[in-house]
Amino acid sequence: MDQIDTVVVGAGVIGLAVARGLALAGHEVVVLEAEPAFGSVTSARNSEVIHAGIYYPPGSLKAALCVRGKALLYDFCAHHGVAHRRCGKLIVATRAAQVAALHKLQAQAQANGVHDLQWLDGDQARALEPALACEAALLSPSTGIIDSHGLMLALLGDAQAAGADLALCSPLLQARRDPEGFVLAVGGDQPIQIRARRLINAAGLVAPDLARRIDGLDTRHVPEAFYCKGNYFSCAGKPAFSRLIYPIPEQAGLGVHVTLDLAGQMRFGPDVQWLADMDPMAPDYHVDPLRVDGMAEAIRRYWPGLPDGALSPAYSGIRPKISGPDEPAADFRIDGPDVHGVAGLINLFGIESPGLTACLAIAEQVQAQLA
Ligand SMILES: Cc1cc2nc3c(=O)[nH]c(=O)nc-3n(C[C@H](O)[C@H](O)[C@H](O)COP(=O)(O)OP(=O)(O)OC[C@H]3O[C@@H](n4cnc5c(N)ncnc54)[C@H](O)[C@@H]3O)c2cc1C
Repeated sequence: MDQIDTVVVGAGVIGLAVARGLALAGHEVVVLEAEPAFGSVTSARNSEVIHAGIYYPPGSLKAALCVRGKALLYDFCAHHGVAHRRCGKLIVATRAAQVAALHKLQAQAQANGVHDLQWLDGDQARALEPALACEAALLSPSTGIIDSHGLMLALLGDAQAAGADLALCSPLLQARRDPEGFVLAVGGDQPIQIRARRLINAAGLVAPDLARRIDGLDTRHVPEAFYCKGNYFSCAGKPAFSRLIYPIPEQAGLGVHVTLDLAGQMRFGPDVQWLADMDPMAPDYHVDPLRVDGMAEAIRRYWPGLPDGALSPAYSGIRPKISGPDEPAADFRIDGPDVHGVAGLINLFGIESPGLTACLAIAEQVQAQLA
């Protein structure tokens, strides 16, 4: 049976960042990926925004790892030639009643170490973005956009240059503890068993389900999984904005926002569609065109000039949540032996937004926990 030091399950942006960090630190690493390509699940289905660190409760992992991750990510992009743009964003209050919420966000950002937000009244905001309707806005200059696939390619390149291996079409089916670590049953065309001293579960939507297949892990340490789809619509015509535009956040998401791709084209989303009873192994990414009306209504609150018929269904992503529709948003969970008592095991649960921004900081945290 092959013996490997560390197996990372999942070649999304988190698994790749973790594998890179461990390989650069001199560890032998193999990444197991169920799909025929890396980065084809949630890491390929998001807004591609580098978040500033505004939205998350002070003291949370989301806040700390977003702020740290943003700095690491801009630096990484600059050194690895990953396409990105620090385009900035406006968070807008579209009614007087929302201005208090905007003040609260500003105070929270400050507590999270985001000190560069600028308060704008409606006229100042419109001087930057003439198509905008709002009472007031917060300008976040450090928010940006990134080519997420380019990022993953660069993370994989670094990891492989440091000796890591990526095995595609290689789903981890189950694991059991043994005195030397874990015995892993890997599926695919040629199922094999391998032994690993350490196991990192970065399986995204599937992470809780996979954790329940680790024999020896008490399932009390595995959270219930909830899935919440975010649908995106593309917008025909010339872009109306040069910065990202976000409304006041809602309970399960950041609100239907304008993101720009690196070519400057606008897309809108993600909305919030909770999925009951979804099988995480067979996610449904279909975008229902009938959702366009709700989407257009949300957009017209800050862009009254949205032309009729301009929106078309584009794509969707599914948030890997560990809190339900009526619960407060859960923090990231990076559960090591101090939580579950299993030496050598780290489970990453609930790595929804801002996971892309935070990937390099999450990798640092995993390394610190393993040390
Ligand atoms: C709608 C939406 C918008 C978002 N927008 C942003 C944003 O703008 N900015 C931001 O910072 N974050 C954003 N995020 C969050 C970000 O996309 C995620 O945090 C990040 O992509 C999670 O990466 P991951 O590697 O954990 O998961 P994934 O990308 O899902 O990777 C997990 C991998 O594990 C593999 N896998 C699963 N089970 C197994 C198994 N048994 N064996 C082997 N492999 C397995 C899967 O095939 C997959 O490739 C958004 C998320 C969503 C859903």
